[in-house]
Amino acid sequence: MRLDKYLSHLQYGSRKDIKALVKQKRVRVNGQLSTDAGLAVNEADAVTVDDQSVSAHLEVAYVLNKPAGVVTATADTRDRTVLDLIAPTDLRPGLAPVGRLDKDTTGLLVLTTDGTLAHALLAPKRHVDKVYQVTIDQPLTETGIKRLTSGIVFKDFTSAPAAVEVIAPQKILLTIHEGKFHQVKRMLHAVGSEVIALKRVAMGGLWLDSALNPGQYRALTSEEIQQLT
Ligand code: URA
Repeated sequence: MRLDKYLSHLQYGSRKDIKALVKQKRVRVNGQLSTDAGLAVNEADAVTVDDQSVSAHLEVAYVLNKPAGVVTATADTRDRTVLDLIAPTDLRPGLAPVGRLDKDTTGLLVLTTDGTLAHALLAPKRHVDKVYQVTIDQPLTETGIKRLTSGIVFKDFTSAPAAVEVIAPQKILLTIHEGKFHQVKRMLHAVGSEVIALKRVAMGGLWLDSALNPGQYRALTSEEIQQLT
């Protein structure tokens, strides 16, 4: 990528601003003063502005309200991916979703370049709570609720006790901390209800903002990142 475009993506200003930085001899590439804002650079190059490495600016973290119909992947031959929802100026090398929501699941999805943040949210030992709003075809029975809250034995794993809050006959909030494939759908199916709609509303104490419409995202604040890691 061109140096001016690269620095512009890293929020160093417009390409005109970057040309000015280069003219003022404030930009170095691999230690050499840059004279050409159009120089081709990549992640392997050490770029500094005012002798400060720009790589510190590379880490980004976003919270997306994932719409239905897009896949949680960085690339797909058939479907739109969650990365297609990120504006080109907000894209960074290595940006990837943290965990996975099914194609038809909506709601909170964190995307980041920050390995520490991703690990903090995903490591099984950290037991990060995930809260799902689940719309079901059949109200839960007392026995069903008991099974969800005490753990359900599947062929390949046993779910840890979940928290269930019934908010309407066919709508519940389910809190789990594992992330097995289709886990919520499987848990509900096991107790006799099919999932009609699934939305993740919180993860690790971070709640989905009501201001974010499906498909919209925002940067996490440094306080939020600190709280999550
Ligand atoms: N559980 C599911 O079944 N699907 C999801 O997308 C997330 C959790």
